[in-house]
Parts: sequence; structure tokens; C-alpha cells
Amino acid sequence: MPGHVMNTYGRIPVTFARGEGVWLESVDGERYLDALSGIAVCALGHAHPAIVETVCQQASRLIHTSNINPIPQQEALADKLAAVSGLDQAFFANSGAEANEAALKLSRLHAREKGIERPQVVVFDSAFHGRTLATLSASDSAKVQQGFEPLVEGFVRLPYGDIDALQALAEERSDVVAVLMEPIQGEGGVRPPPPGFLTAVRALCDAQDWLLMLDEIQTGVGRTGQWYACQHEGVQPDVLTTAKGLGAGVPVAACLATERVAGYFKPGKHGSTFGGNPLACAVALKTLETIEAEGLLPQVRERGQQLQALLEEKLGSDSRVVDIRGQGLMVGVECDRPMNALVGLALEERLIINVTRDSVIRLVPPLIISSEEVEALVARLQAALSKLDA
Ligand SMILES: *Cc1c(COP(=O)(O)O)cnc(C)c1O
Repeated sequence: MPGHVMNTYGRIPVTFARGEGVWLESVDGERYLDALSGIAVCALGHAHPAIVETVCQQASRLIHTSNINPIPQQEALADKLAAVSGLDQAFFANSGAEANEAALKLSRLHAREKGIERPQVVVFDSAFHGRTLATLSASDSAKVQQGFEPLVEGFVRLPYGDIDALQALAEERSDVVAVLMEPIQGEGGVRPPPPGFLTAVRALCDAQDWLLMLDEIQTGVGRTGQWYACQHEGVQPDVLTTAKGLGAGVPVAACLATERVAGYFKPGKHGSTFGGNPLACAVALKTLETIEAEGLLPQVRERGQQLQALLEEKLGSDSRVVDIRGQGLMVGVECDRPMNALVGLALEERLIINVTRDSVIRLVPPLIISSEEVEALVARLQAALSKLDA
């Protein structure tokens, strides 16, 4: 009998007891440099004083009331999210997949308005949008989908970054209502599209009255050096989903939309018992305020450049490394072979990383990482890589 927890994760044999900044301490007292942030979640590192204080204060007053009551913390967070994203209104959920479900439901209501009965949403190769039935159907991974058929219908898949394919689809089909995409693919291997792709998709969506729905669950909340990655190209989506870093470790997510699209939801059309509770919203607001107060957006751009430059310098001549890419503190090192064994070797160097699509080393350290810690990260990664050869 393997214990009472369902076996959905291949686990790494280190258990953590506490953390501080970019450092995690295992139950046996070893210190690890965290270059994974609980998969791009712990934006402010571990035990950030502002977050600790907000959690304690809000928990001591009120953790939860139902959404039947007005929730001032939710309204304040929605105001802040509108200010940083340029979108108008927020629906609050508890996870990325749920935020995407809200987005997909909005696309169905958009279809109703257009008189389309069996609408299609464009999604892309290598996409990852979550593990619920609709979001796994939108994802492109045999591992994520296999065994869960029948998949949810209404998705048409195109090559990521191929604007001609999207243009051709627009000429072919009249049942498309939206495009759902990551501005930089995360699980798909830290893959940015060609420059200008997002701008071109926006223009096509405008011409066709399709919703541009950006999944910024991994790229958002400062991860790439802007609040949201679409802001690097000055592109404004109709719908944007945000989660992971938003609560600095406390589960909270949002589906943001323009006033027009948000208006499709009326009382009773969507909901969530836990979504947007006072605790989650107070912490998320504090996370955004802290990113601002500490000047983290320009700092992430700087550290990201430092990280990529150091990786180029130290690993660029490694024959196994084929590409070093990304934006801000979302960086991938693509190799020409499976790199899964590197995760264990990195642990021996007291470094936490992970590998996506088998061959891409993913580095998503906390946004607060210092330049000395970036140097330590690269040194430890290089040491782990040199052991992989031996
Ligand atoms: C992590 C992730 C999701 C799913 O988020 P959950 O909180 O695990 O449901 C969806 N889209 C992207 C791009 C992600 O990185």
C-alpha cells in the first residue's frame, strides 16, 4: 500500500521545512537555491515579510465570506489588476485552469452573440492550458490528454507562431470565435513566438471579431519584466488569465476582460465558492504592490539579461546546448537530448530546477533574486551539467 496520497506526481526525494528569499531549507537542514519557485508561483521568494504580515493580519480578521456578500479586498484587487493590465473587469478563481475555464465560457457566450452554434477556439501546438477537461482539450500533450477521451470539442489547433496558417483559417471557416494562446509557451518548452506574431494575431482578431484570449498564467505578474508579457509588444487582449505568481504562493487566479466581454457574464452565469476570498485577494493585492514598491519589473529585466548572458558565457559552448532563450526571469536552456536526469544532479549541487518537454531546462527563480544569486544559480547549473557527462 503506497500511502494515502494519489500517485499523480513523480516526486523528487527532498522535503522542505522552510524558506527565505530564494533559499529553501530541507527537513535535514540543507539549503537549496530555488530556481523553480514552486513552478513560477513564489514570485517574491519564500517568507517575504510583506506577504507574511498580510496573511497573518487578514487571517486574524476574516478568511472567507461567500461571494453573496460584497468583498472589499476583491474590489481593491480588481482595481489594481485593471490598472496594471489595461483590462476592465476581473472574475476571481483559485487556479490557472479555472481562470481559463472562465475565459472559454466567455468565448462560448461571444459565439451566442454572433449567432454561432458550434464555435471553435484556435489553440496551438505545444500549448498548455491546464488539467480540467476543457483546458486539457485545449492543451497539446499526449501525456496530458491520453486516457481522458472524449475530449471537449470546439478547438482547432494550428502551428504556434504561424500567422499564415491563422490567416488561411480565417478565410476557410466562419465558426471561429477566439484565439487562446500563451505569449511565451511555458510547459511547451519556454518558447516565444517569432517577433510580431502577437501583434499580427491581434490585428486578425480585430478584423474577424475573434476574441484574443491570452493565457498569462505563467508569463504574468512580472515574470518576463512587464506586468504581462503582451505589454512587450504593446498588445491588448480581450481576455487575459493570470494565476501562478499572483498570490506569491497563496492560491488565487483571475480571468480579466474588457467591459464588453466581461458583460457576457450575468448573475448566475459563472461562480466559485472559494474564488476571490478576502485572504487570497488581500495577499494578491500586496503581491502586486510589493512588485511595484521594490521596483521589480526593471530589476527582472536586468537580472534576466544577466542570467541569459551568463548562461551563454558558461554553457553556450556546451555541445549539448542548442538554444538559450526566454524573457526576464523565464528562461529555457534547450538541449539536444533528454535532460530529466539533470534535476537530480542539480539537487546534489543544492539547486532546484525542472525540465520541460524532456530537453528544456526551465529557470524561473523568484523575481527578487539578487545578481550574486544569479551567479550562484549558473555556477551550480554548470556543475550539475558537468556531472551529467561523467
Ligand atoms: C500552470 C499553467 C496553467 C494551469 O494552472 P493551474 O493553476 O495548474 O491550474 C495554465 N496555463 C499555463 C500557461 C500554465 O503555465
